Amino acid sequence: MDAGTITTPAVLILLGPPGAGKGTQARMLEEDFGLVQLSTGDLLRAAVAQGTEAGLRAKAVMESGGLVSDEIVLAILKDRMAEPDTVRGVILDGFPRTAGQAEALDTLLAASGQKIDAAVSMEVDDGAMVARVAGRYTCAGCGEGYHDEFKQPAHAGTCDKCGGTAFKRRADDNAETAGARLQAYHAQTAPLISYYAGRGVLQKVDAMASIAEIRTALTAIVGGLA
Ligand code: AMP
Repeated sequence: MDAGTITTPAVLILLGPPGAGKGTQARMLEEDFGLVQLSTGDLLRAAVAQGTEAGLRAKAVMESGGLVSDEIVLAILKDRMAEPDTVRGVILDGFPRTAGQAEALDTLLAASGQKIDAAVSMEVDDGAMVARVAGRYTCAGCGEGYHDEFKQPAHAGTCDKCGGTAFKRRADDNAETAGARLQAYHAQTAPLISYYAGRGVLQKVDAMASIAEIRTALTAIVGGLA
């Protein structure tokens, strides 16, 4: 893919319930287009691991499957957006998740003369989501994502990307917490689909398809942004 097809900083939002494949696809779009994946979940997990004040406040909420306060999430996102590597464009993965976050994002982007190029709703059946989430794990070294059923390393126990042999699973990727996360998605995040439809930036992708098919659909969307 020619990474030169995007001429202005692109802002792409990936919307979808847990297990829709947002993180997997965001990483591939990073490679293909030189965009930077901004996952508020990853940023929050890093804050928890570092024991920052925000991390300490977020930890219990994340473990319960609820949503961390807009105040904490916005502070973390703003800091990350201010870093120079975002200049080519960003893929927002797991943000915004509430109407308040969506409005705050509009304000933040307007202040720097940017706008949302596309908000992609990754549509997946609720029934598939728990199995997807429960089977996933990542390379502890480079973060490459894998799945017990859908995406195993070519050589068992060795990361395809970095050759690492240590893997980890998220504490909240269990059936109980996954159910709460799905509920939070429907109650607070799904309404953003009509918010972005009203702005004329919504695109839908069938996220029940294979990883490769979803990648093709997203590549067409991002490649079409000028
Ligand atoms: P994720 O990695 O996107 O599945 O997020 C993991 C957890 O982090 C979520 O279940 C929430 O508790 C929290 N989280 C991540 N992003 C947000 C956000 N934009 N707003 C509120 N909470 C978030």
